Amino acid sequence: MSATREDVGGTPLPPGWAQPAHQPDAFEISTTTFEQRATETMARPFARRAIANATDHAAALTTARFVGIDHDALRDKARQIRAHAIANLPDYLDQWIDAAEAHGTIVHYAADESEARRIVAQICRDEAVTRVVKSKSMASEEVSLNSALEAIGIDIYETDLGEFVVQAMGDRPGHVIAPILHRTKDEVHALFSTMAGRELPNEAEALTAFARDRLRHAFLTADAGISGGNFLIAETGEVLLVTNEGNGRLTTALPKIHIALVGIEKIVPRRRDLAVLLPLLTGHGTGQQITTYVTMVAGPRREQEPDGPERMHVVLLDAGRSALLGGEFEEALHCIRCGACQNVCPVYRQVGGHAYGWVYGGPIGAVLTPLFRGQVEGGELAHATTLCGACDDVCPVKIPLHDLLLGLRRRRDEEGCVPRSEQLAFALWGQVWSRPLLYRASTAVARGSLRVIARDGVLSAKAPLLRRWTAGRDLVVGRRRS
Ligand code: SF4
Repeated sequence: MSATREDVGGTPLPPGWAQPAHQPDAFEISTTTFEQRATETMARPFARRAIANATDHAAALTTARFVGIDHDALRDKARQIRAHAIANLPDYLDQWIDAAEAHGTIVHYAADESEARRIVAQICRDEAVTRVVKSKSMASEEVSLNSALEAIGIDIYETDLGEFVVQAMGDRPGHVIAPILHRTKDEVHALFSTMAGRELPNEAEALTAFARDRLRHAFLTADAGISGGNFLIAETGEVLLVTNEGNGRLTTALPKIHIALVGIEKIVPRRRDLAVLLPLLTGHGTGQQITTYVTMVAGPRREQEPDGPERMHVVLLDAGRSALLGGEFEEALHCIRCGACQNVCPVYRQVGGHAYGWVYGGPIGAVLTPLFRGQVEGGELAHATTLCGACDDVCPVKIPLHDLLLGLRRRRDEEGCVPRSEQLAFALWGQVWSRPLLYRASTAVARGSLRVIARDGVLSAKAPLLRRWTAGRDLVVGRRRS
């Protein structure tokens, strides 16, 4: 543990900065369609530029990180580790629970989102918690934990810098690793200046110092710290966290109660597996060899230790995960949430994370959302992809995202979620294009028709049947020979 209560100083919290803006509930934002949400982002040119710059930068760092390393062999090894851990998930979970309880950790199991909210709220009530500091946790986003705790009068302070901004803006994270990737420095400067009640220097160092000063007070006055967990190590009963800002350590070490909310799929069998998984997680997430802090937490403070919580609770979150075991989509559980597939996805890079309507964006979001939230809320996301396969090529644990997306499209069709007219159209198209003669005849007719309405070989926004395609781009009419 790296800090004690004496290490962090500062003045008391100023009045007027008690509780940041209410964050929208994860379940509130999925009533719109992908197209509506994507249109909103695309109407914000700053957001598009910020997303493109940030994802370009992250993808370049990842490529540079693995130069001179047999990256593919490392990914193969990681795939084996994740496949083995998930195939034996119940056994490794039992092993982890035994080891964690031996350290004094209190372990809970939440079958779904509402149970997770209820368990964490009950712990907070039992422990008379009124103020919580949180380090970044996508699992807590999944269960809308903040709004559940706010509803029982608890002050919550997000302590990851990006999450701090997200919370103060009343926004939602736009990326699994970089929550404010869709925001610019100028927006953060305006926000912090408003919060400070004075014009702050528009410099990263000054803005960070402002947030740090505010957050230190929150750390010192919080009754509980809530974290996620990047891995659960079965052989030791530890929860492993990777962070770059130190807020994870303060969250888990300073308050008297530590609650970790972790998806059950985060299990790894042994510590030595991290020699493979950690470099891949950090390299694909931020391009680093290793993050600034790697924290392994095992139980509450022991007698001889200078800091650490008096009690440590871990809430193991299922929420749709165990239903995937042994099925067609089990490989989705191999994900280590590095965000690399988001950075390279040509759809995500245009529309950002919010367009996906729930917690996860990009290819992994298009897979997890329908699996965890069902076809009605997330089914259309399997079509929000070009199927270019860039995500498959970059995934550090080699999840075949492209195949999973095709499987979800198939399942959507089988479950009758596709309109009859669309089914008939594709059935007819399949019949015609699987016969060479009909294929050639139909393409000749299409090409001839398009040439009639095209001007100088280009079709712009005028063609009624193709208006949605040509509204954003010109269509060059196909030539006889390519
Ligand atoms: S699917 Fe692969 S690339 Fe995407 S977040 Fe998960 S581990 Fe990273």
